[in-house]
This record gives sequence, C-alpha cells and structure tokens, in this order.
Amino acid sequence: MIIEVADRGTIPAVQKVLQGTHEVRKLIFPERFFVACSGDERTIDQSALKKIDGVLNIIDTNQHPYYFASRVFKEKDTIVRVGDVEIGGRRVAMIAGPCAVENLDDTLETAIGLAQTGVKILRGGAFKPRTTPYNFQGLGLAGLKILAEVRRRTGLSVVTEVINPEDVEIAAEYVDMMQVGMFNMTNTPLLKRLGEVGKPVILKRNAYSTLANLLKAAEFIIYNGNPHVILCERGVKTQETATRFTLDVSAVPVLKRLSHLPVIIDPSHAAGHRDLVPILSKCSVVAGADALLIESHVAPERMIKPGDADQALHPTEIQALMKDLQPIAEAVGRTVL
Ligand code: PEP
Ligand code: MN
Repeated sequence: MIIEVADRGTIPAVQKVLQGTHEVRKLIFPERFFVACSGDERTIDQSALKKIDGVLNIIDTNQHPYYFASRVFKEKDTIVRVGDVEIGGRRVAMIAGPCAVENLDDTLETAIGLAQTGVKILRGGAFKPRTTPYNFQGLGLAGLKILAEVRRRTGLSVVTEVINPEDVEIAAEYVDMMQVGMFNMTNTPLLKRLGEVGKPVILKRNAYSTLANLLKAAEFIIYNGNPHVILCERGVKTQETATRFTLDVSAVPVLKRLSHLPVIIDPSHAAGHRDLVPILSKCSVVAGADALLIESHVAPERMIKPGDADQALHPTEIQALMKDLQPIAEAVGRTVL
C-alpha cells in the first residue's frame, strides 16, 4: 500500500498507524511525499489513515503494482541525466562499447574512436554474466579501473553491468551508470542495492519476461530510493533461430504508454550479428527509443568470445550508422547528432 500525503509533517502520523506489522518507508519526490509499506494489508486500519489531515490518496498496490514507475504517478516523461547527456529528451543518445572490458589498449582505442563519432557514453562489462563457467567472466575490479582510466582520458561517461549486490558500491565509485543484465532482472537484492546507491541504472528486460514484470523490477529500484531508471528492450526468446533473440520493437510504445521512464533498445544482443544492427537501430528510433545501446570494438577479431565479436560494430560503422539515423530521427521529431 502507498499513502500520498500533503507534506513532510503528515508522515509521522501515517507511520504511527502502520508501525508494528508493516515495513514502512518514506519516499520523497520533488514536491510529493509518500509513505509506502509492505506486509499484511488486511491489518491496516484504513479508516484511521483517512481521518489524518493531510492524507491525500491511498493507492492500492494490487491495482498498481508498479505505481512509481507508471504514468499514473507521473504523467510527464522522465529524463535521466548521465554526465552531460540526457536520456529521454529530444536527442536519441548513443551508448556504445565492447561487450567486456578485456584490456586497457582495446578499450581505450575503441573509446577514442567512439568519442570522435559523437558517442558520449561508453559501455563495457567488468563483471560478465555467462551461460557457462568456461567463458571469460570479466576482469572485475581491474575492469572497473580500466573504465575509470578510459573515462579520464576521453571524457566519456561509462556504464557497466553489476551482478552481485556487494559489487554495487565499489562499481559506483568508478562508473557513471550501472546496468542490470537480463539474467538479473529479478535479482531483488541487487535491485534494492541499486536503489539505495542512487546512480542511474539501465534495467534490461529478461528475454522471457513480460513488460509488466520489467516495470515491477523498475519499481524495486525506485521504491528503494532511486528514480533514475532507464528501461531497456534487448530481444525476447521466440522459436526463431536465425537471430539470437527477437527484438520486440512494440516494447517501446507499450512501455511508454504505461511508464514515464526512458526506454532504450539494445539491437546488438537481439540480433546476435552485426549485419542486423543498423536496420534494427533504425526501427528502434522510429518506435521512439530514447537511446541505443550498441556493442562496438576496434578489432572484433581480437575479442575473447566469438559470440561477442560477431555482433560488434567498428566505431567507423557506428559513425556511418549515426549519419544514416539522423534523417530518420528528424522524421519522428528527434535528433541523433
Ligand atoms: C551485455 O550487455 O553485454 C549483456 C550481457 O546483455 P544481456 O543481459 O542483455 O544479455
Ligand atoms: Mn554482450
């Protein structure tokens, strides 16, 4: 249950009614104040709550399980700021970089190439979730240090994936934004920690998840104190084997109808092959994506994992793609450059 109140002064009276049998927390947004609780709702004395001066609204979370992520809570689009980049504004942001941070030289060379194209945010995994224990699992802390060094030398902001809740705090010291990969969309201890730490988060949809469950995962992060959440579609599992996953382009308009949060697309993991990335990127911009998350590497042949190499675009290919995207973006009232 969520209770909206008129001001901070009303919060203690509401907390008093709820205390004891419920986990109670305050959520403060610009000029809006809430008390949210979890527990056995049958024991809540709703008439006592309604009698409190300053209680504006009692929200049934069975009806609105992702209330704070929804348009019911906030009609206006949210813009998430990362460095000097706005995600959710008129400009479609480009986020690009290697799947995994493998060494300083390749990461730096890729980042320099991308910075020259106008990309402002570098992606790169230091902690890699893998389907087998035999694949390269990432450099961990050494990878975070490489990202921070590349950021210092190029001026790019950086985003990296986190897997374990205990890595969130340390990663936050080195990067500007964190990513939840598809395997961890429902890792609630991780979502909770990301909520508490407060840095912008890219939350990827699990390939087997509904959009409603993606929004419930986003709610965990917001409920724990962090409203800077970006939703990411990265392909869903279907019977099709010609592509790695099937890009659900309709996720963008559907999520935008349901939610005020920015929605971005990762065409690289959906396609699994670089040839398809440009056309899927174009479709994504037309569908209304607020950013593209694309894998890029200066020398895919040097990458450790062949699957990662297959889907990586060279920075010059990203540059060509951005040029091709510009008239398409303009046709839908956006810009890329
Ligand atoms: C990635 O971004 O490199 C990644 C592993 O993505 P996903 O979680 O979407 O598979
Ligand atoms: Mn990858």
